[in-house]
Amino acid sequence: MSNVVEQHEEVASRIETACKRSGRTASDVTLIIVSKTFGPEDITPLLDDNCRVFGENRVQEAQGKWVDLKEQYSDIELHLIGPLQSNKAEDAVALFDVIQTIDREKIAKAIGKEMKKQDRKLKLFVQVNTGSEPQKAGILPEEAVSFVKKCQEDFGLEIAGLMCIPPFDENPGPHFALLRKLAGEAGVSELSMGMSGDFETAVEFGATSVRVGSAIFGGRG
Ligand SMILES: *Cc1c(COP(=O)(O)O)cnc(C)c1O
Repeated sequence: MSNVVEQHEEVASRIETACKRSGRTASDVTLIIVSKTFGPEDITPLLDDNCRVFGENRVQEAQGKWVDLKEQYSDIELHLIGPLQSNKAEDAVALFDVIQTIDREKIAKAIGKEMKKQDRKLKLFVQVNTGSEPQKAGILPEEAVSFVKKCQEDFGLEIAGLMCIPPFDENPGPHFALLRKLAGEAGVSELSMGMSGDFETAVEFGATSVRVGSAIFGGRG
């Protein structure tokens, strides 16, 4: 068995254990395999093992591999988990199935317009900058609930949930708890939170999807 397939199984079983520990069902948590920086040769063993949910953080890089892979394998669910510029909205809507990084009006509008134009309905998440870090993407926590409402009421978007990337050097628990609280206030149910270093904690705080790269593929160098 290929190394990535083994490591994927290991991560999946750690998610299952974390679910049991917190009284949750493993099927309630989606493992998004983050394949950024890795090529088709690394991804294909996972596709052949029936993995179907992947995440990429750059539109152009994703086009370079996933246009072909989506032709070769059916039912792939591709998530955009990195920042989006409005001039890439057309390409993003054409390729991705889920966009997790809606964080300002301009992007919300551009995505809404493209979905109409292309007659494609993507699943959408609002990214929240739970640590209010100046350099980080995401809407500020205090603006998150009203922004979700605005997306729904003014731009006609269905928002499935919230996504966050906690500050690198902080205990992630309080950030996951904040995201869950904001989702409750905004009336959305999905929580995309947790990466290689903290996905088990995220599951315990109610993550409905975790985004895991290096624990499956190894370091990105
Ligand atoms: C790269 C990335 C991940 C995966 O990070 P790992 O630590 O390699 O698991 C998750 N979420 C986002 C937004 C990323 O950019």
